[in-house]
Amino acid sequence: MHKKLFIPGPVDVREDVLEKMATPMIGHRTKEASDLQRNISEKLMKLMYTENQIILSTSSGTGLMEGAVRSCTRNKAAVFSVGAFGKRWHEIALANGVDADLFESEWGKPTTPEMVEEALSTGLYDLVTITHNETSTGIMNPLEEISAVIKNYPEVVFCMDTVSSLGGAKIEVDKWGVDICIASTQKCLGLPAGMAVCSISEKAVNAAKEVKNRGFYFDLLKLYNTIKKKDHQYPSTPSLSHMFALDYQLDRIMEEGIENRFERHLQMADLVRDWAKKNFELFADEKHASNSLTTVKNTRGISVADLNKELGKRGFMISNGYGDLKEKTFRIAHMADTPMEDLSALLENIEDILGL
Ligand SMILES: *Cc1c(COP(=O)(O)O)cnc(C)c1O
Repeated sequence: MHKKLFIPGPVDVREDVLEKMATPMIGHRTKEASDLQRNISEKLMKLMYTENQIILSTSSGTGLMEGAVRSCTRNKAAVFSVGAFGKRWHEIALANGVDADLFESEWGKPTTPEMVEEALSTGLYDLVTITHNETSTGIMNPLEEISAVIKNYPEVVFCMDTVSSLGGAKIEVDKWGVDICIASTQKCLGLPAGMAVCSISEKAVNAAKEVKNRGFYFDLLKLYNTIKKKDHQYPSTPSLSHMFALDYQLDRIMEEGIENRFERHLQMADLVRDWAKKNFELFADEKHASNSLTTVKNTRGISVADLNKELGKRGFMISNGYGDLKEKTFRIAHMADTPMEDLSALLENIEDILGL
């Protein structure tokens, strides 16, 4: 039996979108491939509210995180973390021999503009990483305020992880001055895992020109130059299957209306948050609670593993807490094309299993 997925990626993919993955192959050096890749980029620019170039990567989102930090840090990066995925930027930097400092918030709390100001005012950093939506803790950072601070440091390349929010929340790349904005396909975009996307500004491209060892596969400058020179083609063979599906799914997203889609995510979040507050507690500071997933504090001391086993028999799957938060929290994702009825059915089944 297929279990309906309420885990924060991979998400359930609509049948018609899945079918597009089975489109017959085309040559990756053809005009058809250029057209496909250009069309996707133009649609993603709308979704990201940007005029910047889009790069598609046949990897998961972590690949582009690695590409960004390694390709664009000239001296030192400031990594702001509100959970496991924030910390990942720091691990990536160190693994690539990139100098970086980690600025952590208490889990469940956001990155504050004051923290960012304090770090950047030292003048030590030329790249900053911010997690827009932290999937371990269920925090959505206050980007409007944070970006206002970063704007005062024009030499700093601003990288943002929107892996679990692009397509589910409004992300205004140009207005916020984001230089590299990264997302994966398997979350709010509603596609299978295996492709990642980012926007890249001229400032980030120029920073990369000053970096000597940018690696090979995730060298953002090489990717950018190839796209520009060869009309949206890529240095190595991309997952054309993902591109057929992504091109189609972006049309479905535009059909729904991107603002409508964000509103639907908010409605789903409201439903789950109200339910969580009634029956448990929210883990995240409610002012900064995520629109695409809810991390619920396990105040009743239930066995999350047992709950998930019972849910599995009924055709549902949720997520345990991430890392140290396992069993202390559980996570319900409400992203991509999840119908509201399915979400309500999930909550009813949890109540039934737990006797709430
Ligand atoms: C899932 C996730 C990642 C990792 O993305 P992959 O596509 O698995 O590499 C990074 N950051 C956040 C916020 C995520 O939710």
